[in-house]
Amino acid sequence: MFFRDLVSTTLILTFAIAARYLLVVWAVYALVWGRKDGSVAGRRLNRDRPKATTIRHELKLSLLSSWIYALPAALVFEVWRRGGTLVYLNVDRYGVAWLFVSGAIYLLIQDTYYYWLHRLMHKHAVFRYVHAGHHRSRQPTPFASFSFDWAEAALAAWLLPALTFLIPIHPAVIVVLLTIMTIAAVLNHAGSELLPAWLVEGPVGAWLISATHHSVHHTHYGANFGLYFRFWDRAMRTDMMPARERPASVEAPVS
Ligand SMILES: [Zn+2]
Ligand SMILES: [Zn+2]
Repeated sequence: MFFRDLVSTTLILTFAIAARYLLVVWAVYALVWGRKDGSVAGRRLNRDRPKATTIRHELKLSLLSSWIYALPAALVFEVWRRGGTLVYLNVDRYGVAWLFVSGAIYLLIQDTYYYWLHRLMHKHAVFRYVHAGHHRSRQPTPFASFSFDWAEAALAAWLLPALTFLIPIHPAVIVVLLTIMTIAAVLNHAGSELLPAWLVEGPVGAWLISATHHSVHHTHYGANFGLYFRFWDRAMRTDMMPARERPASVEAPVS
């Protein structure tokens, strides 16, 4: 029976999404903030060490988001089992190149959708109902990577499942996309830049969102709305990177 299967698949996926969240987030948190000597891995972005109240809030919203993300995913799975959606198992059907092309298309659509949704969520009339929960973390911790108000989670969670009805995709590509989503979200909220400076400040970093880039959004609400890429922020002039502090020795002399 469809409805009963949907409920049980939703429960299983909720558990899987929450377990994935706790595992990855806890590992990154321990790496960055859990060192015994009090030092911080990477280039520290947060002024203060994470507070227990912030983490508790982030955990609560993230676990709530888990089931909101699970529901449309479970719906797609149950429809797919019954012959629906464009999810296919035989790679030869569209060729190997399509695995990469489809993955890129999904990422670009998600990035574009999220940029505009994010800007909309910052409108005064709706901000406190849909997006304030995420912004309670002014100095985010890895636990903030999935902490959304239920309305924001609902607005974001349906997109990838809906695309499976329009654009053919292989389950392996879905797994890769979910992995990218998780890693990007956790790294961008780590409160410390774990990527090397040459990457963040080089030509790749000019187009790619990093913790350095996203932490600016948590302190200056009016900039850096993108999800993966800086394209939309740059095109719409909402892109902002913190000025790199120059060592005192190269500072221009005051005349
Ligand atoms: Zn925001
Ligand atoms: Zn954020």
